Amino acid sequence: MSGTRTELSTLGEFGLIDRITRNFSIHNPESVKGIGDDAAVIDTNADTYTLISTDMLLEGIHFDLSYMPLQHLGYKAVAVNVSDIAAMYGIPKQITISLALSNRFSVESVEGLYEGILAACEEYNVDLVGGDTTASRSGLVISVSVLGITEKNKIAYRNTAQPNDIVCVSGDLGGAYMGLQILEREKQAFLQSPDMQPELEGKEYILQRQLRPIARMDIIHELRELNIVPTSMIDISDGLASDMLHICRQSGVGVALFEEHLPIDAQTYDTAVEMHLDPSTCALNGGEDYELLFTIRQEDFEKVKNHADIFFIGYIHEAAKGTDLVTKAGSRIPLQAQGWVHF
Ligand code: ADP
Ligand code: MG
Repeated sequence: MSGTRTELSTLGEFGLIDRITRNFSIHNPESVKGIGDDAAVIDTNADTYTLISTDMLLEGIHFDLSYMPLQHLGYKAVAVNVSDIAAMYGIPKQITISLALSNRFSVESVEGLYEGILAACEEYNVDLVGGDTTASRSGLVISVSVLGITEKNKIAYRNTAQPNDIVCVSGDLGGAYMGLQILEREKQAFLQSPDMQPELEGKEYILQRQLRPIARMDIIHELRELNIVPTSMIDISDGLASDMLHICRQSGVGVALFEEHLPIDAQTYDTAVEMHLDPSTCALNGGEDYELLFTIRQEDFEKVKNHADIFFIGYIHEAAKGTDLVTKAGSRIPLQAQGWVHF
């Protein structure tokens, strides 16, 4: 250790991960894919890979218990992990859950959290097989690890998109972000005048997008039935622009996304306008939608072109042609990573 001190904020999430992991190399042939994708890929038998991923949610950083019901939090903690297995084209099988709890929580409230966890386990057909429970001095921490499997010839990495592939997304974007804006607005209003009732009517869809996101395993099962393995895939946790750039940089390709094709729900659109935000910017940079962003070969287009939940938002081209958004007016704007701003 040298005497210099670098602030975490100068590196950001991805810079930090790169820096702390750069001295690690892979020693075991079973470790097929290490750091850098939605899940790690482990080879321990002839036909299938094991997938593993982990995500931690912290009170005050990822959720605010003044508006996040514990049942939804439990559901969301599982769903965001299942989403990482989906993003590899995998099928989730087991989870472990680690909890840090302060004495502020009652047994009943922890049971509420586990009702949500149970609902998600049933919905995604995963088994809770272990975890860890410890005391915390500052709020609730919930860390979930998920194991999944996939056939060796049916896996979707981030680094395998090819020029001419079509860029697809599994649902509308920006809703979770707008839901969060509404919850924050109502919280501020409540803090100023505690006897005010929150105005949440007509916002049900975007609130559900924020509070109880769905992992798109339905899309994975459908693509499997159609025998389509995406040429690359990621789940949208940080935002479309950021996550599209992960695919492009890791694949060594460029992309053109079309503003006019960005799927935006009417409630998201209207709420953005109401709050003086640009709906397209919310769709590009709002995180936590947990939709799947993937690329398919031209020849697979016929099989999905009429799918109600798959939107075609652009195409892949050579890296030299850039990573751009083509606006409704026809101009090209470079995509920008928002990344993560917790520090
Ligand atoms: P995702 O958004 O899909 O959950 P992340 O952006 O959190 O993925 O992480 C990117 C990659 O870096 C993943 O492969 C993850 O396993 C790895 N990673 C994140 N934090 C650490 C850490 N502290 N040490 C080692 N690897 C990490
Ligand atoms: Mg992911």
